[in-house]
Amino acid sequence: MSVPYVRRNLASRYRLIASYCEACNGKYFPKRKICPKCGNNDHLKDISLIENGHRANVFSASVIRHPATTHTRYAPYISAVVELDGYKVPTMLADFEITSDEVDIVNDIIGMVVEPVFRRITEQGDAGVIEYGMKFRPFRSSLFKEYGPYTPKKISHKAGLVSYGVYLPRYKITVEQISATFGTNAETYKRGLALEEKGVGNLDEDTGTYSVEAARRAINHAGIDPQKIDRIWVGSESPPYAVKPTATIVAEAIAAVPYVGGSDREFACKAATDAIPDAIALVNDELTGKSHEYTLVIGADKAQARPGDPLDYSVGEGGVALIFGKTDVIAEPLGFASYLTDTPDFWRREFEKFPSHGGRFTGDPAYFKHVIAAAEKLMSDLEMTPKDFSYVVFHQPNGKFPIRAGTKLGFEIEQMKPGLMVTKCGNLYSGSSPLGFASTLDIAVDNEKILLVSYGSGAGSDASAWITTDTLLEKRERTVPVRDQIEGRVEMDYLQYARSKGTLMF
Ligand SMILES: [Zn+2]
Repeated sequence: MSVPYVRRNLASRYRLIASYCEACNGKYFPKRKICPKCGNNDHLKDISLIENGHRANVFSASVIRHPATTHTRYAPYISAVVELDGYKVPTMLADFEITSDEVDIVNDIIGMVVEPVFRRITEQGDAGVIEYGMKFRPFRSSLFKEYGPYTPKKISHKAGLVSYGVYLPRYKITVEQISATFGTNAETYKRGLALEEKGVGNLDEDTGTYSVEAARRAINHAGIDPQKIDRIWVGSESPPYAVKPTATIVAEAIAAVPYVGGSDREFACKAATDAIPDAIALVNDELTGKSHEYTLVIGADKAQARPGDPLDYSVGEGGVALIFGKTDVIAEPLGFASYLTDTPDFWRREFEKFPSHGGRFTGDPAYFKHVIAAAEKLMSDLEMTPKDFSYVVFHQPNGKFPIRAGTKLGFEIEQMKPGLMVTKCGNLYSGSSPLGFASTLDIAVDNEKILLVSYGSGAGSDASAWITTDTLLEKRERTVPVRDQIEGRVEMDYLQYARSKGTLMF
């Protein structure tokens, strides 16, 4: 399909825009200019079929084993028509494994309850545009929330965190699986990295899809109109395009366009936390503040690792979105401090597929030096000690580093535990410390202080201190908790994993 064709159909594909005829109650997808039933053209209303976590039923389905060349990467897959509030939507099923060659698999699918999810549809070759859109995946009631607008209750004098959204993939791979593939000792890696398993996305998921899903959850948590989001930053080291901002895909998919700013940020694993002070300052700024009601910061990655490298055992996937504003703040910032030096501990040269790293050099002169210095500077600026905080969250390249850094700073293990997600999720890169922040906010109560310290290779650390408000508890039922997303994940073998990562193509 041509680029102009893709662009013309973006809204329809990204948000499932349908037409409702107010004259005859006709329902059409995709949207129409004239009602095919009654011929009216001034009574058609645009409706987005994905608002408020809609569920659908599979109406008809077929297994596509030999698709057109544009879709061979995804075969076999299910092409389906789903019925949603009386609208019939042609789509593809996502996160649905076709495990047998039997043809009657379709009978089991018809009537199945599914939910919309933002995914890759196809790519126009290696150099062409990536086509995104909505697919439908098997519905999981444990992750379902009935969202509606949140009536604004409290306007703060200063900006803070208004909401957060986390998206973790449906699949996982264990250290045992990876070890079995490369003939290594799983116990050595489990002990050395202090992690058991990690989340892995499907073939049609990438940093763009993670960013969109996390942002949608954050918007639902806040219960705000996305048109009020004025700036979007996406922090990542694995954007789907080398040149074309992921922020544009997010802005379009969440319907924040067209009066919105934003860009992508790159600073290894601290690309997202680097934007937090800016996001808050922009809302607080009196000069531009009038138009900046909310700002959105996303950390998302589907980072690469050379097969068999220690990174291959630890690189996780997913996205975390944070919305800042002055309305119904759930956590107020107490202060920020950053620490940055030119330290080549981890890098990827242009046109190289996999990153390189300094092995043991990534520890003391890199991670520990920066994390500890940023945390100490902030605590000294605020005249606070580890005892003043209920929780502390560090960047988590593995399970060992954050605990060693925390212990060295004088924190207890109990302060770190709620935010330590790497053991089950792997290192989410830009989303790593934000994921720990979110899982801590999932369980925190009001008036608790949280210290958040990121780390990005290259190298730098951002430390920020927060105090929770009682609004955190009021809005809690609108979140999809991090721990619920780890329950019941489906295990991938190394072949499926390598196919999803793009390190194996067939
Ligand atoms: Zn009509």
